[in-house]
Amino acid sequence: MDVEKLCAPHTLPNCRLCPRLVDFQREQGIKHPGFHCAPVAPWGSKTARLLLVGLAPGLQGAARTGKGFVGDASGEFLFASLYRYGFADTKRSEVARLLGARITNIVKCLPPNNRPLGIERSNCEGFLRQELADFQPSRRSKTRVILCLGKDAFDSVRRLTDTSPTRFVHGQQVRLAPNYYLLSSFHPSRLNVNTGRLTRAMFDKVWQDVRELVNGEVNI
Ligand code: SF4
Repeated sequence: MDVEKLCAPHTLPNCRLCPRLVDFQREQGIKHPGFHCAPVAPWGSKTARLLLVGLAPGLQGAARTGKGFVGDASGEFLFASLYRYGFADTKRSEVARLLGARITNIVKCLPPNNRPLGIERSNCEGFLRQELADFQPSRRSKTRVILCLGKDAFDSVRRLTDTSPTRFVHGQQVRLAPNYYLLSSFHPSRLNVNTGRLTRAMFDKVWQDVRELVNGEVNI
């Protein structure tokens, strides 16, 4: 099946390639009138120099608001850092404007229990592939940084950028090209934050690295 033909980026709002997710979103939309409950497109400027990649919409986050990482606990933790490091104009995700950043997920539809199936990740990969192609800097562009939030996002981006096999490590930096970097962090999920797997100090260190790379202050 040629996923990219069936499900080209311009068809994202109407994509129905994953029946389980389409049905689940419809059910949730009936339970929660006013929620977005449809595929969630990336948001933020197309010329941004930072691309954040998460896993999939959460019910109280993107599936409700229609914007990745907006409105739930993960988003609040994330936007505190986006604001602190100059990538958003406020830490309140629901009213924030992104400054030089763009946000997407590897899977665009709300999955039950926050866990998309392998086939659903594969189905959605055509969209992410196009987003990464659009984001890739030319040789003369200023530095661009992809920050993957969680192992799932890292594994998908690594595969789609043809990065040599590297296992997910929090805080890792991989140079894809002289002006192109792939960074990884634990996902700022409520579970990871509440269990201390991801602390504010750990997240801040990642954001310091992102800011320095985007500012062109280091060259690894
Ligand atoms: S998860 Fe992606 S491929 Fe599957 S229905 Fe949603 S937009 Fe389409």
